[in-house]
Amino acid sequence: MKFHIVTIFPEFFQGPLACGILSRARKAGLVDIEIHDLRKWTSDTHRTVDDRPFGGEEGMVMKIEPIDAAVAEIGSRCPGGSAWTVLLSAQGRLFDQVAARRLAARQDDVVLVCGRYEGVDERVAQHLADEEISIGSYVLSGGEWAAGVIVDSVARLCPGAVGNAASTRRESFEPLDSGGVGILDYPQYTRPARYAPARLGGRSWDVPEVLLSGHHEAVARWRRDAALEKTRANRPDLLRLSTPMAGADATPGATEN
Ligand code: SAM
Repeated sequence: MKFHIVTIFPEFFQGPLACGILSRARKAGLVDIEIHDLRKWTSDTHRTVDDRPFGGEEGMVMKIEPIDAAVAEIGSRCPGGSAWTVLLSAQGRLFDQVAARRLAARQDDVVLVCGRYEGVDERVAQHLADEEISIGSYVLSGGEWAAGVIVDSVARLCPGAVGNAASTRRESFEPLDSGGVGILDYPQYTRPARYAPARLGGRSWDVPEVLLSGHHEAVARWRRDAALEKTRANRPDLLRLSTPMAGADATPGATEN
């Protein structure tokens, strides 16, 4: 799996790419990430990547020419002579675990184009990008944050990136066999089973008894119920999107509070 990130702030990625699973996956050759400075594809002395918007508004808009040149050159160097091009944009389709799995399954290189300023000349979305992705319903100051999120979530799905592959299969949002979005993961606890800091005045915060029971079926049942309860409380929208998987209560639309 290879990502190319096109940005005017290449230094942005130094920290995030050097940590944890992402760093290990890169060192192991499971994921390759190349950062490209967009200004390399400018032709004027000021290395200009932006200009004023037509129609007379505040702010600046990223120009199409350097992005077109970057996408064309990077694509021509990729196996097969082209790459899958993604424009990061608040106006794109919402990114989720299904989309992460879809990108992780791609055989070709993926180019992530990071916008800045007031955004990117719309012709990039119309004619250069294969898809436009948003990581959430809020506005970031730059596509670099979104590129980091996408690279991290996709890289950990690459075989071998996470020690126990089964653990990524049962995480929050994991796509269901039906193709729908899954519910949230069940809550996790670790030692100590009883936590009683002095400020609780003799009370304690305890791990649910069933998890200490060693009774596998009961633990599995508790986890299913707890995952549903948490989904109902925090993300009822997922229950509408999912199909029955964790008991009749998960029927689409059946459970909103
Ligand atoms: N004027 C734009 C709008 O209202 O949709 C916002 C531009 S934003 C300040 C600058 C850049 O940040 C965008 O071009 C895009 O690359 C990135 N960006 C902002 N929010 C994003 C989001 N939710 N998902 C992905 N990228 C985002």
